[in-house]
Amino acid sequence: MNPPLKVYHDDDISPAPLEDAGVAVIGYGSQGRAQALNLRDSGVAVTVGLRPGSPSRARAEEDGFTLLEPGAAVEETPFVAVLVPDEVQGEVVAQEVTPHVKRGAVVVFAHGGPVHFGEVALPEGVDVALVAPMGPGRLLREYYVAGHGLNAKAAVARDATGGAWPRALAYARALGCGRAGVIATTFAEEAKLDLFSEQAVLCGGLPALAEAAFETLVAAGYPPVLAYIECVREIKYVADLTYEHGLDGMRRRISSTALYGGATRGPKVVGAEAKKTLKEILGAVEDGSFVAEMRAKFGGREEFLAAARNDRLEAAREEFERIIRRVPRE
Ligand code: NAD
Ligand code: MG
Repeated sequence: MNPPLKVYHDDDISPAPLEDAGVAVIGYGSQGRAQALNLRDSGVAVTVGLRPGSPSRARAEEDGFTLLEPGAAVEETPFVAVLVPDEVQGEVVAQEVTPHVKRGAVVVFAHGGPVHFGEVALPEGVDVALVAPMGPGRLLREYYVAGHGLNAKAAVARDATGGAWPRALAYARALGCGRAGVIATTFAEEAKLDLFSEQAVLCGGLPALAEAAFETLVAAGYPPVLAYIECVREIKYVADLTYEHGLDGMRRRISSTALYGGATRGPKVVGAEAKKTLKEILGAVEDGSFVAEMRAKFGGREEFLAAARNDRLEAAREEFERIIRRVPRE
């Protein structure tokens, strides 16, 4: 049996560790912007650390933040949030954080991977914490503004000061995540679950299945735009039901034909071979070989975007947007 989950809400979390303590937010992308805005609206002094030529500068300036070079931002504050892409964190931490971070500071990450897989090293005497909002920055901000919060996972990899946990929780609370619930985890567990779920389901299995189903219909002579609507666009309706009610609750809300067809065919789509593949995918996440492979082979987003793009499917989507939804061309 797993131990019961530890979950913290606003009432369980003291904001004290962040009072009179500034946060340096390094990186101003999806998480960086949302976290900086939420922290500021929670009364926390935020400086944003960006490289001189960073494309995010204009946005951060427009939002009214004080911009510093990353090293200078780190020097000044007891909280440092590392919110640059995972694949550059090793380099950014080595160059901008390690030489400047104060003893007794806490460095907060939004994903456990780089620390867990040993790509990031921090000097002794520094707390290392994880506050991983469970959704994109846009939602973190939207939910905060709407008065509720996004769930987050929190963990501590190193408690140098003895205060790492209260600091991580106070940080999560200032992001608004304590309104929804902050779940205690470990860097290892967060890193592995995150990678596995995005590969197996969210960004791997699910889109690949939708695309294969689309191609099956098109090859059989069905209009691509209709195949696109049925196999790709309608994922949202089922995802929304599943989000609200779970898988069983979703099944209770679909037609009997969909229920029967799904229950009898689903296990054939995801049969023994797919289950074996899932185990292999998890194995490569757990033993670090996925991360090693990516660091060796990933040459930039554009190459992978081009290779993955299905022009037939994009043409069908374009037709849908233009002819059926009547969205004017940009
Ligand atoms: P992002 O790509 O949206 O933004 C990255 C920011 O870092 C940008 O401001 C970019 O200009 C800057 N940057 C890029 N390279 C840099 C470098 N070499 N030096 C300094 N700055 C650099 O990234 P993100 O999605 O916000 O991811 C940040 C962290 O948040 C990651 O650890 C990610 O795993 C985690 N996370 C992301 C999400 C999400 O949905 N996007 C959700 C939870 C956690
Ligand atoms: Mg992820």
